[in-house]
Amino acid sequence: MAHTTLSAARTAWQVGAHSAVELCEASLAAIADQDPVLGAFTEVTADRALSRAAAIDRDREAWAHQPLAGVPVAIKDNLCTAEVRTTASSRILETFVPPYTATAVAKLEAAGAIIIGKTNCDEFAMGSSTENSAFRVTRNPWATDRIPGGSSGGSAVAVASGMAPLALGSDTGGSIRQPAALCGIVGLKPTYGRVSRYGLIAFASSLDQVGPLTWTVADAALALSVIAGGDAADATSAPHPVPDYTVGLTGNARGLRIGVPRDLLNGEGVDADVATHVQQALETLKARGASIVDIALPTAAAAIPTYYLVATAEASSNLARYDGVRYGFRAPAEGRDTLRAMYCRTRERGFGAEVKRRIMLGTYVLSAGYYDAYYLKAQQVRTLIRRDYERAFEQVDLVAMPTSPTPAFRIGERIADPVQMYLADIFTVSANLSGLPAISVPCGFSTEGLPIGLQLTGRHFDEATLLRAADAYERDANWSVHRPPHVGARTHA
Ligand code: GLN
Repeated sequence: MAHTTLSAARTAWQVGAHSAVELCEASLAAIADQDPVLGAFTEVTADRALSRAAAIDRDREAWAHQPLAGVPVAIKDNLCTAEVRTTASSRILETFVPPYTATAVAKLEAAGAIIIGKTNCDEFAMGSSTENSAFRVTRNPWATDRIPGGSSGGSAVAVASGMAPLALGSDTGGSIRQPAALCGIVGLKPTYGRVSRYGLIAFASSLDQVGPLTWTVADAALALSVIAGGDAADATSAPHPVPDYTVGLTGNARGLRIGVPRDLLNGEGVDADVATHVQQALETLKARGASIVDIALPTAAAAIPTYYLVATAEASSNLARYDGVRYGFRAPAEGRDTLRAMYCRTRERGFGAEVKRRIMLGTYVLSAGYYDAYYLKAQQVRTLIRRDYERAFEQVDLVAMPTSPTPAFRIGERIADPVQMYLADIFTVSANLSGLPAISVPCGFSTEGLPIGLQLTGRHFDEATLLRAADAYERDANWSVHRPPHVGARTHA
């Protein structure tokens, strides 16, 4: 039963082929088998999951019409879950048990989904490899000496290796799409405001969005239909009605105009295999009825510095709340401590190196003498990037790019060089800076057998077109039938 899609798991429960308890047991068995090697989970909520599954099985009538009844799901550990530890993979929140549940998670549970565990991520979602977790290394199931991408690396691995058919992640600058691409699955970052951020541990509030990681585009559409919508608890969530995103998946891309920023695609640092497969994917979309148009996004080349100024500025402000008084970890008292000394020691021991780097950078760019030169300038460039897209969308319906300039790199390869790590985000951060929806869909394998992702970006609140094109491509190319080799403590027949 491992390696089932979300839609198949849901149908299996609906028709009575599998009980919710059986679906959960299959997930838990896959975790017990593979997670000692892969390290996708920070916590497995087996008892809670099994008792909820049993309750859903007992009351079939009440759950029969819920879209995700009986389906196990994994949740990135920066989404709050009441009574389940939520750490954001940070020492400072190691013992934090939230009293409330994030809206996106609550919506999944209300739809009948069952949380089987919390997934490992870069500390406070800061990173592109999941190596910044304070707790464990997460390995790419396609090659276990490689990173799974990040920051939602645990969520991507949970889905890619068949431990759960759906995982939630968060995407501030690519953290859903990039690990999805590097693990050979689908990752969707919705329009800013499409999904409530309530209960998501804040990194950069003007960029953060919650979204699904799945095997197929149809599953991403199903999951988005459940988690999207306005929320009184998040003033930045949008009240727009939520369509059933699964109905528009017609299997063709007829009439769609897809823009390709050639300069970026042919730019420095783009792996040859990545460029080739993205080009082939465009041919496939053309054969499915789309027209391909060359476009220019002149400011996109400045996206990385812009993003790393805006994101660190917001992070430095958001992370000021971790002072040892209100949340989680507090450094033990030493002698006649002052309050200030307690704050300093708590933050010095509670945060990892990357988080500290970003707090310092963010504090610096917001400081009186440098605000105009850095933060204000970055906000101005952010506007130019958004205008680039607005101009492009006068001409085209979607923009196509690679998701990541390279396939998965080796564990340890970039950890000592933050700038190299940041460069992995060149194609993903613009969608966050502009608030646009974007999806990564598998589009082939490198010569070394590592997955490659195609990224499509759409207009604000036009997830429907994004999903339609990605689904049309997926049906033709069908990369989703390829699964990683079994990586496990036990081997299966
Ligand atoms: N890799 C980017 C960063 O390190 C994006 C992270 C994210 O989307 N959460 O900030």
